[in-house]
Amino acid sequence: MMPEYPAQLPPPSLRLRIDHRALAENWQALNQLSGSAVAGAAVKANAYGLGVAEVLPTLVQAGARSFFVAHWSEVPGVIAHAPPQSVSVLHGPLSEADASFARRAGVKPVLNSLRQVRLWRDSGGGICDLMIDTGINRLGLSMSEIGDPALQNLEIDVLMSHLASADEDSDLNAVQLERFRQAAQSINARRLSLANSAGIALGPDYAFDLTRPGLALYGGVPRAELAGRIAQVAAPQAAILQRRLLQAGDSVGYNAVFTAPRQMEVGVVSLGYADGFLRCWTGKGALKSGSASLPLLGKVSMDMVVIDLSAAQHLREGDWVEIPYNLPEAARISGLSQYELLTTLGPRYRA
Ligand SMILES: *Cc1c(COP(=O)(O)O)cnc(C)c1O
Repeated sequence: MMPEYPAQLPPPSLRLRIDHRALAENWQALNQLSGSAVAGAAVKANAYGLGVAEVLPTLVQAGARSFFVAHWSEVPGVIAHAPPQSVSVLHGPLSEADASFARRAGVKPVLNSLRQVRLWRDSGGGICDLMIDTGINRLGLSMSEIGDPALQNLEIDVLMSHLASADEDSDLNAVQLERFRQAAQSINARRLSLANSAGIALGPDYAFDLTRPGLALYGGVPRAELAGRIAQVAAPQAAILQRRLLQAGDSVGYNAVFTAPRQMEVGVVSLGYADGFLRCWTGKGALKSGSASLPLLGKVSMDMVVIDLSAAQHLREGDWVEIPYNLPEAARISGLSQYELLTTLGPRYRA
């Protein structure tokens, strides 16, 4: 016999507030910055950790019509909210099973090698996207393969490439742009796409027909030009599980790395490294309650952190504190990338 669970879960002690207006406005800002190109949206990795079911309807309503995921397993979550033909699967087909799934679901595989091109053609062909590697040396056909006869009569919707260093003023950007232009001259495709979030900030030369922002949609600022145009979207919050009074000399958490210098009120908070609040925050970060800063004490545990409540004595068990998620600033403090801060958030947050 299966045990019977109550239909309704009790309220969570960890929640993720999504600013849907900021999300929509970020897409609109990136679409505008894309000039004559239109912006799509990278929604891989569960929309960068924010929840694809939460994010997709807002992006669709804002006007996004092209979506990028990495895995086939990410397709159902997207086509629940957007037409299948608007979805591109970046990893492409590794096997017959992948190609047949793409065809049945009606989504586009992004073909990344001559092997994938042949696999797609031999299994029946149809509309696809094609990735060219112009210098990142990750996925994509090499420049030496762009004249290959296997590419003839391929029904390519988006011909794309991916920038390696768009978040820096690197010479590689112009090199990749030139190679992409060259590839576009010899390959027939309906649309061209090169820029990710940072690439959009490189200017109109990089925009072509379709841009593929991810990070900046969700509040990330990969280049200074985007500061002021992009607003914070994700605001994680955690509840205080317990208050305790430390005496001078008491230590906190695993390995006792913090020792109280005086009597102090502390809070045990429902937030740990399993929730993307990784150990690298130890000794550096602080949670917030309004404008009050609540420094972390001791090591981050799997499900808990301990904070100093000196600056907010009124806080009680069950009260919420904010996890600082201004992404550029949180990245600076934690040493994590803005991408990691989002995609590691984990499954225990609720709306
Ligand atoms: C993840 C990804 C993007 C989005 O990049 P951001 O830097 O998050 O804007 C665009 N294109 C490809 C191919 C990607 O893998």
